[in-house]
Amino acid sequence: MPPEPVPADPGWDEDLARLDRDPGRETWRDRAREHDDPPWDEEDGYVPELTPDELAGIREATADELLAVKAATTGRRGPGQPGSARVFPGESASPAAAFGPGLPLDVLPGCAQLAVSADAAADEDRFDGVPEGELVGLLCAWDRVEAHAAARKLAVVAELDRRNPSPEDAEFTVDEIANALAESRTRAYSLLGTADQLDTHLPGTRAALRDGTVSMSKAQIIANATGLLDPAEARAAEAKVLDRAARLTPGALRAAIARAVIEVAPEKAKERRETAAKFARVERWREESGNAALAGRELPPDEVLAVDERITWWADELRKAGLEGGTDAIRARALLDLLLNKDSRPHQDQPNPAGAAPSGFAGRANLTVPLVTLTSLAGRPGELAGLGPIDPWLARDLATAAAASPTSTWCVTVTDEHGHAIGHGCARPEPRNHRKRAGPGPPGFTFTPASRDGPPGGYGTWRLHTPGNGPDLLVTLDPLTTQDCDHRFESRGHDPGVKLRHVSQVRHGTCTSPVCRRPARQCDFEHNTPYEAGGRTCLCNGGPKCRHDHRLKQHPGWKVDQLPDGTFQWTTPSGRTYSTEPTRYPI
Ligand SMILES: [Zn+2]
Ligand SMILES: [Zn+2]
Ligand SMILES: [Zn+2]
Repeated sequence: MPPEPVPADPGWDEDLARLDRDPGRETWRDRAREHDDPPWDEEDGYVPELTPDELAGIREATADELLAVKAATTGRRGPGQPGSARVFPGESASPAAAFGPGLPLDVLPGCAQLAVSADAAADEDRFDGVPEGELVGLLCAWDRVEAHAAARKLAVVAELDRRNPSPEDAEFTVDEIANALAESRTRAYSLLGTADQLDTHLPGTRAALRDGTVSMSKAQIIANATGLLDPAEARAAEAKVLDRAARLTPGALRAAIARAVIEVAPEKAKERRETAAKFARVERWREESGNAALAGRELPPDEVLAVDERITWWADELRKAGLEGGTDAIRARALLDLLLNKDSRPHQDQPNPAGAAPSGFAGRANLTVPLVTLTSLAGRPGELAGLGPIDPWLARDLATAAAASPTSTWCVTVTDEHGHAIGHGCARPEPRNHRKRAGPGPPGFTFTPASRDGPPGGYGTWRLHTPGNGPDLLVTLDPLTTQDCDHRFESRGHDPGVKLRHVSQVRHGTCTSPVCRRPARQCDFEHNTPYEAGGRTCLCNGGPKCRHDHRLKQHPGWKVDQLPDGTFQWTTPSGRTYSTEPTRYPI
């Protein structure tokens, strides 16, 4: 074997500064740190004092109940969420009394005057005598002011851009901005792009940023995701997320806007994916700690899933052979073993089980069907476990690839018009003695009633044909509703059992905390009313919660209500309420 070529300079690709140049990397870092942007702490130093007349005007405007209604219907964080306002007028005498839940300054949109009032409520950054409910109100107020300042800043950037329309000038507007802000050219370019996109394509997002309904980082997420769309499409996509953008975390918003773009312009979502695939690459860089990082970027999803399964498989072998460590550490070791052709098993008395390595991937495919199209048999691949929203072509390709593995599992989820799961069935192979009559199926996926008359009301038993030579699958669809629950999934004891755990994870694909995105498969099934207190082990009294949120719910001052439609309502010690809806599937 020839010696491997040694690169002339085996150093890192570049230093951390390169992170600056890669918008995709920003996304990745965002995900890890949620808010990558430094706080906007350099607002105008000079704010004119308000005259008594102006203050009276603000008071009058803020007393307008319409503002509270608007806040409640636009999904503003904290007090804006329906049901969150618990008003106790006259009970507080603190300097921040007007910031209490539901009170005028708690619902006033972001503006310079809000900043003045919030400033006046603090004494040199100390808040003596301000109760927690009002402190959280102040926190949200500054957040809205921050967003408002960002909107104004972007408006100036857009104006600079408009004033330099000729291509030779336009190219260097970025440099004017970069110099003024001492930012890299990439960051200045990204700022300019966001300003332009909000100005020309996203009037709703621009208004929401100005009001403080969404933060700058969320506006950027929407602007990035809609970059390829024409103005009408961009408006349609933003309209699908703006009602809840304020209460979604950045990660959840990223998934929601990606799905909206796929629904509005599926071809463009596909085009974006295929174009980006031309920039497939492997990157390595120095971590801030001094260790190293390695990442493959813009790779084919089916092969990444296959690689991931292979890493898991070898990690299991390492653990079985006695290698100690947490899941992450062992998987990292497995990755290096596979790439370097090493064997890190401490006891290598067993033969290398390389032959057993999976080559493809076994999917956990969940086909989703909106109820309205169920009877017209328009089944389509929805989400595949482990990936976020994907365009219909990729979904079909992945489901077809998964069909090649006999260990893939198939489920069908029926959705309502919001994409919430309202029915579900897990596929099982058709009994052998029935198969002859079915004959060879058509290529691709089909989904047909298993009996000639068709199942009543869409529920009942269906036949699912997947590509390849496997037998047809039978799927019995059960309703997932817990409105007047018939407790069909109830389990006798404390343990939910496989079926209930599974359907609860279909209904809520992630932890039911409003700010947690941990996959439900890594969560506990948590009884909302404790089993010991008479709570049923049923879909109507439980859902997935990660360990952290399981403990949080039991912490004094925290309270969670589960509503019949699957919504979870969290009330925090400061008296504010936040809610989580069931997972939205593509429709
Ligand atoms: Zn299932
Ligand atoms: Zn029940
Ligand atoms: Zn959680």
